[in-house]
Amino acid sequence: MRRISVFGATGSIGQNTIDLIRRDPDAYDVVALTGGRNVAQLANDAKDLRADIAVIDDASCLNDLRDALAGTGIEVACGADAIAEAATRPADWIMSSIVGAAGLAPGWAALEQGTTLALANKESLVTAGPILLEQARTHGATILPVDSEHSAVFQALVGEDMGAVERVIITASGGAFRDWPLDKLADATIEQASSHPNWDMGQRITIDSASMFNKGMELIETKEFFGVRPDQIETIIHPESLIHALVGFNDGALMAHVGPPDMRHAIGYALHWPDRKALPVERLDLAQIGSLNFRAPKDARYPALALARRVMKEGGLTGAVFNAAKECALDGFIAGKIGFLDMARVVEMTLDKISAHDGLQNVQMTLDTVMETDRLARARADEAIAKLG
Ligand code: NAD
Ligand code: MG
Repeated sequence: MRRISVFGATGSIGQNTIDLIRRDPDAYDVVALTGGRNVAQLANDAKDLRADIAVIDDASCLNDLRDALAGTGIEVACGADAIAEAATRPADWIMSSIVGAAGLAPGWAALEQGTTLALANKESLVTAGPILLEQARTHGATILPVDSEHSAVFQALVGEDMGAVERVIITASGGAFRDWPLDKLADATIEQASSHPNWDMGQRITIDSASMFNKGMELIETKEFFGVRPDQIETIIHPESLIHALVGFNDGALMAHVGPPDMRHAIGYALHWPDRKALPVERLDLAQIGSLNFRAPKDARYPALALARRVMKEGGLTGAVFNAAKECALDGFIAGKIGFLDMARVVEMTLDKISAHDGLQNVQMTLDTVMETDRLARARADEAIAKLG
């Protein structure tokens, strides 16, 4: 039996992971499940999958979790430190699917035990890519990409020589507002930004898809994970979301990964890697689909892409600034403090302010400096939000 843990088990990726595990319960021995605040979901899954420990982030939920799991023998705990501790418990495969920078520390701790880390938490690579990969190398751990585009690139690269790769093309649906007139974007509401044309995901990544901050994060993720230069990474709008990414080789060939928009594909690939096993996802009927469309993203509509390019160029701790500012801007938008287009302004103001005044260029990247930068950027971003709000 494979020992597995799921961090962010109550979320969209976590639940899709659990769906796959539940289909073959005898194959897995579940060690740890964690959640943010959803006690009922976490307790149900922990009981159903006979987890060793269930950890909830929010301390005010601990008593409810304890009550829900009383008499089961399942250990309970709460808080960020307990989540990181749970990541040190021996497991053969660990899903990192907490949303936001909070996912970095548990993933880091998991790598220390030399495990296989299925990485959905893109913030880990955006904020700390170089040291995360180094951490994996040092401890003989493996990181497998779970973001659909990166899983697609990873699959297109099987058996290939990186030296023959000319470019990586990450597709984008264009999000909820791809066909909106530009002058209407400033008034876009949270409800409008929270519905994705093709994918069913958590609310935060869905809004990030509408603003294309998600795609910006994915460009940075591509650079960090695959070690390609920024000028080799392209993005293209593909409204059907059926081609997830393409890799272009030096003989002109493009290898595309085509599949239904169902995260259980990328999760399942990481779960069974290096094998391929049957997955309960839709089989595409290409004759029925008929045509696939592509168009170049327009800079004016998607300032997040230019900001991500700036981060790839500047490198170092800029990724942590970008991510933290983006998380705060998203909080500000969800709380109704700033408008949809202000999110990019907040990120730009924060990047400008920190690179001009806070001298990050000479600071070495460590887990501590990433966390410090995250805190600093959140303070600066909150100032920007107050100014714009
Ligand atoms: P979600 O909001 O549905 O779930 C997030 C999970 O993290 C939940 O279990 C939540 O309780 C937990 N959580 C939130 N804040 C926490 C905190 N501070 N400490 C501990 N736990 C916390 O998010 P999601 O859509 O499942 O996305 C998870 C990650 O996967 C994100 O990094 C996202 O960018 C990435 N991702 C998601 C998808 C998708 O289809 N949903 C696709 C690609 C990548
Ligand atoms: Mg993606």
